[in-house]
Amino acid sequence: MPIPALLWFRQDLRLADHAAVAALEGRPVLPVHVLEDGPDAPGGAAAWWLHHSLSALGRALAERGAPLLLLRGDPRRLIPELAERIGAAEVHAGRQTEPAARRRDAETHAALEAAGRRLVLHRTALLHEPHLVRTGAGKPFSVYTPFSRAVFTLLEGLPPPLPAPDRLQAAPGAPEGLPLEALGLLPKPPEPDWAAEFHAHWTPGENGAAARLATFLEHGLDGYAARRNEPAAAWGTSGLSPHLHLGEISPRQVWHAARAKGGRGRESFLKELVWREFSHHLLWHRPEMPDTPLRPEFAAFPWQRDAALLRAWQRGRTGYPIVDAGMRQLWRTGWMHNRVRMIAASFLVKHLLQPWQDGAAWFRDTLVDADLAANSASWQWVAGCGADAAPYFRVFNPVLQGETFDPAGTYVRRWCPELARLPDRFIHRPHEAPDTVLHGAGVKLGRDYPAPLIGLAEGRARALAAFATVKGTE
Ligand code: FAD
Repeated sequence: MPIPALLWFRQDLRLADHAAVAALEGRPVLPVHVLEDGPDAPGGAAAWWLHHSLSALGRALAERGAPLLLLRGDPRRLIPELAERIGAAEVHAGRQTEPAARRRDAETHAALEAAGRRLVLHRTALLHEPHLVRTGAGKPFSVYTPFSRAVFTLLEGLPPPLPAPDRLQAAPGAPEGLPLEALGLLPKPPEPDWAAEFHAHWTPGENGAAARLATFLEHGLDGYAARRNEPAAAWGTSGLSPHLHLGEISPRQVWHAARAKGGRGRESFLKELVWREFSHHLLWHRPEMPDTPLRPEFAAFPWQRDAALLRAWQRGRTGYPIVDAGMRQLWRTGWMHNRVRMIAASFLVKHLLQPWQDGAAWFRDTLVDADLAANSASWQWVAGCGADAAPYFRVFNPVLQGETFDPAGTYVRRWCPELARLPDRFIHRPHEAPDTVLHGAGVKLGRDYPAPLIGLAEGRARALAAFATVKGTE
């Protein structure tokens, strides 16, 4: 009888193209997922997704003969205990880049090693290992363009994805685990069911991910370069981010499928997958990124923390329709279009002078794709304090951004229905509409829709003045 192994699923909740699954084919395995408590536990929306993703993975594993064991607690203790119980010599898992996960893995490995076992990590979440991509001088990259050039070269010979196994052999001796419901990942009464609408937009799980990729390749990829900035476009972007975040599909599957499909949008789409790699590369080398500005001079930035302003932004009540539409799309669906994420984030940190960490925390709790690497790298990019950031003095004007990328106001009308009857000319600037126009559209500012929290010129001037106090950033 071959020696059994633990197959520890974390952010790679799939069976196809899974290096750890493939490495264990033909050996008795015990698949396990451990829900960890503490600061790195998933936020509300990501927890909703995790519930459904575990449900789908559980079904797929059970069909193949090796049911998924669910545990809750500290893996440093639970995984070595479980390995001992079933006599596993090895624990196989996918490598993670989050600093707490890396610490946890090092400690789990040490605990296993002390008992003569080992933790074997595979590449399951990224196209290339973040610690193996280096500049000519052997250093980590801090700028996207040279990083992407290096990655595109490294990926030229990327092997094809691995197939999912037909059968798995269950290791004997598994203890009884928790039922999925006991993990408490769904909204709990008396809390309102804020996820009520999520099912209308998403199908978590490996099959849902494959279906989404197929539809995007069919309807979105060709027009991707042209339409990826239009938040109202159907299939303007792939919507694969929550599936990629939990590894229901591998970036290698997406990469190869997009390359094979071809078409005009392909290179532009592949570059976005490389942005994902870049975020993880940054997090690997700068583990302080989630909390600390990568440009140290920004530690002294004079933020003006204000709970009421933060709340108005969170609720989609800033008075700027494109920002509000984005924040409401986020609340209702757990996702926001990338262009609108940039506009909404910029408005918070620049016009409202709220710390980017507060915005990142809200996104972390409300995004189904909340990803420590992409979220913190993107917030730092918008705030101007990241490695390869947008210059701080480039302040997005939410009215002009809205008019450029949502010219007919389709996106705004969908998420801010109280503005739906405004003519195109004023849909992004209701505060400038004459009373007769507002009246005709049934809008009273301050009653049906808020007046702007701050004037754009005033907000911009205040942001630039705050920026000028930060030394060495010109
Ligand atoms: P597509 O345009 O179809 O792109 C394909 C894939 O490439 C995405 O699924 C994603 O995995 C990756 N990708 C695309 N853009 C980026 C990017 N800028 N950085 C890193 N990866 C990217 N993305 C997350 O996955 N999780 C987050 O928590 C997150 N937080 C963000 C916060 C802010 C303030 C901003 C401006 C961006 C954030 N992003 C985050 C990046 C980006 O907005 C999303 O990845 C994208 O909107 C997902 O939609 P999509 O799958 O349709 O993307």
